[in-house]
Amino acid sequence: MRIGILTSGGDAPGMNNAISAVVKTCVKNNIEVYGIYSGYKGMVEGKIKPLTLDDIEGIESRGGTILKSARLPEFKEVAVREKAVEQLKKFGIDAVVVVGGDGSYMGALRLTEMGINCIGLPGTIDNDIACTDFTIGFFTCQETILDAVEHIKDTAASHCRCVVVECMGNHCGDLTLFTSLGVGADALITREHPMELEELYAKLNAKRAKNPDAYSIVMISEKNPAAPLNELVEKIKENTVYGEDVRGTALGHIQRGGSPVSFDRMLATRMGVKAVELLAEGKGGRCVGMRKNVIVDYDITEALAMTRKVDPNIARLANILM
Ligand code: ADP
Repeated sequence: MRIGILTSGGDAPGMNNAISAVVKTCVKNNIEVYGIYSGYKGMVEGKIKPLTLDDIEGIESRGGTILKSARLPEFKEVAVREKAVEQLKKFGIDAVVVVGGDGSYMGALRLTEMGINCIGLPGTIDNDIACTDFTIGFFTCQETILDAVEHIKDTAASHCRCVVVECMGNHCGDLTLFTSLGVGADALITREHPMELEELYAKLNAKRAKNPDAYSIVMISEKNPAAPLNELVEKIKENTVYGEDVRGTALGHIQRGGSPVSFDRMLATRMGVKAVELLAEGKGGRCVGMRKNVIVDYDITEALAMTRKVDPNIARLANILM
C-alpha cells in the first residue's frame, strides 16, 4: 500500500503535526508514504515525492505546512481530477490523506468516487467543520488573538479609547466568541451572535457614564452581519461618547501562523494516526473528527450535510458576561 498526504485550503498550525503522525504511522507499518505538495494543484501537476522520517524531523513545533497549500477551483471539473488520478497512478499511490476544510473534503469525496480512497482531517483555524468539536489550528489561533488583544488593551486603557478588533473565522464566529470571553471584551458581534448597533452604543455609553476614564474592547468577526470594520468604527464615533477616540484593528494574517499549542498538536497527532488506520482497513470517503474527546470518523457526505451550531454552553456565557 502507498499513501499520499496533502494539505489544502487555508493553512493552520498543527497541520505539520498531522503530517508527522501520518508519516510515522506509515513507516511503523511498512506503508510507503508520499508528500503531495501544494494541495490538489500539486496533485494534478505531479509535485509528489516520497516522505521519510528525515523529511519530518523537527516539524512538530512549526506553524504552516511543510507540504505547502494551494487552491485549485478547477478541481471541481472531472477532467482535471482525471489528470490527478493519472498522476497518483504513475506514483503508485492508492490512498490519500487530505488535511483541509470543507472544500478540501469535497475534493476527497470526488477522488474516492474515482477509486482513490481518501480520508479528510479538519485543518483550519476557523472551527467551522460540523463533524468535529474542534478543528486543528483553532486553539493556536485563539492564543495569537488573545496575545494581540492584550496588547491592544494596554493602549486602549492608556488612551481611554474604544477599540474594535476584527478576527478571522470566515463565516464562523467561534474565534471571536471564545477569545472575547478570554480577554473580557465588552461586546462581540458575529453571525451567530448578532447585536443591534443601538444596543452596542448604549452599552459603550453606559460604561463611560459610570467611569469617564473607561476603555472598551469590541470584538467582531469578519463577515459579521452588522457592518464592516471601518464602517463600524465610524458609526461608533458618531453615536457614542467616545467620539474620535475609537480605533479599529483587523488582526489579519498574524492569526494564521505560529507554533501550534499543545491541544492542536495532540488533536492533529491523534487524527493523523486514525487516518492511516482507516486507510489500512481499506476505508475511504471518510473524515475524522473529535466528539467529547473521542476520535471518531464519518462518511464525508454525511459530514458535509451536518449543520454547525455554536456550543450553547459557551454562547450563553457571552450573554451572562457581556
Ligand atoms: P477549504 O478546504 O479550507 O474549505 P477551499 O474551499 O478553498 O478551502 O477548498 C480547497 C480546495 O478543495 C479547492 O481549491 C479545490 O481544489 C477543492 N475543492 C473545493 N470544492 C470542491 C468540489 N466541490 N469538488 C472538488 N474539489 C473541490
